[in-house]
Amino acid sequence: MSKNQNKTGSYSFFNCIEKNFDKAARFISIEKGLLEQIKACNSVYRMHFPVKIGKEVKVIEAYRVQHSHHKLPCKGGLRYSMKVNQDEIMTLAALMTYKCAIVDVPFGGAKGGIKIDPQTISSENIEKITRRYTSELIKKNFIGPGIDVPAPDYGTGEKEMSWIFDTFLSLRSGDVDALACVTGKPISQGGVRGRKEATGLGVFYGIRELCHVKEEMYSVGLDVGLVGKKIIIQGLGNVGYHAASFFHESGAIIIALAEREGAIYNKKGLNVSKVFLHLKNNGSILNFPEAKNIENTEKALELECDILIPAALENVIHKNNANRIKAKIIGEAANGPITPEADEILDKKGVIIVPDIYLNAGGVTVSYFEWLKNLSHVRYGRMEKKFRENVNAEFLKVIETVCKKKISIEEKKMILRGPREIDLVRSGLEDTMINGFHKIRDIKKSLKIENMRTAAFVLSINKIIDSYEKLGIFP
Ligand code: GLU
Repeated sequence: MSKNQNKTGSYSFFNCIEKNFDKAARFISIEKGLLEQIKACNSVYRMHFPVKIGKEVKVIEAYRVQHSHHKLPCKGGLRYSMKVNQDEIMTLAALMTYKCAIVDVPFGGAKGGIKIDPQTISSENIEKITRRYTSELIKKNFIGPGIDVPAPDYGTGEKEMSWIFDTFLSLRSGDVDALACVTGKPISQGGVRGRKEATGLGVFYGIRELCHVKEEMYSVGLDVGLVGKKIIIQGLGNVGYHAASFFHESGAIIIALAEREGAIYNKKGLNVSKVFLHLKNNGSILNFPEAKNIENTEKALELECDILIPAALENVIHKNNANRIKAKIIGEAANGPITPEADEILDKKGVIIVPDIYLNAGGVTVSYFEWLKNLSHVRYGRMEKKFRENVNAEFLKVIETVCKKKISIEEKKMILRGPREIDLVRSGLEDTMINGFHKIRDIKKSLKIENMRTAAFVLSINKIIDSYEKLGIFP
């Protein structure tokens, strides 16, 4: 039995998502066979290819899974980890389908993975592997602006996305839309401002929205608002790092941060930017001067707090530790951090779980903006920025004349400003996360559903059914 199966009980990770799906299906009246079609993974591409590393030839195992083609292209990250296996990538591809539907991003779900440990391989060799993987995808028509568009995930980032784009372009030269074959690229390579921090910022917007709902906060004995809430974040990769910064800036108190090597804790709150500096200088968060070390990092999840944010890998909250979790709210920044058994235990305890298929959708939302930018070949705000500033200046003149009052230079700067790309991306993301939250909540209330995860699945499945119906596939 694998480590994963030990934690998830007797079923695979994919079965866990099927379980969540089935709970939601009870609220949807549609023929069973059609639900089975939505659940199934459409295409699984498992590959092995040789790469020369030093003097040795290594056989690399890799995957790309397209879960659903109800909307095209397919979309989803590419992860590099020794834990990569078919079941994991199938599950993560399925989560992408449900995620995209919730936030109205018109893509089918996909995911890719290469079974390597990027921390033990040189950058040159990672480049070789990434380029070879991309050419394998091209050979089988598994990548392209209208086919399937990878993005960063666990263990990958801008660098890998650049290599993917460059390999794609060299084999498809002359494709004017080639930039849109991958998202999460550096700005200089067609990336969009705001993509890097998008998932973490989306997590922040989602939790902030929840904390503003009186009914929800009173149900777990908390005050309204984010200020002063005690938060624990597990995982300081791209998502956890940015989420921690946004929570800290907004006045929440980060009492613990957990990483692979251990966790640090200070009940009065950690200065997040100082911790990051310490991490950069020492290669570890441990021994931060203003905190206590917790050697067993898993124990950090069990500390007293208001909000727990698992932001690393799947299955970290399972049947063996769920009873010891003291958080009143859990925000799933990672994909699949809670097993179904743990979910039930936490539900019974009355914990509010904000599900991954909604909460970490900020990344793919901004990937969508990047894809649109690449297809339109123009930076957001380029056409309207100056025009807006001119119109605002005219307005201001009229206001000053009518009110017979001069507006201060500082105020003028604020009012005159035309939208930059980062402003548009962030406002698009904020709006998406706020809308998504309320749509899930409305379904939860109207159908009297017990938790947010099931309500999110109902919302998502209904949207997928709707697009299949419009395609004329479902009667
Ligand atoms: N890897 C991210 C996720 O799991 C982003 C996917 C994307 O941008 O396509 O949501």
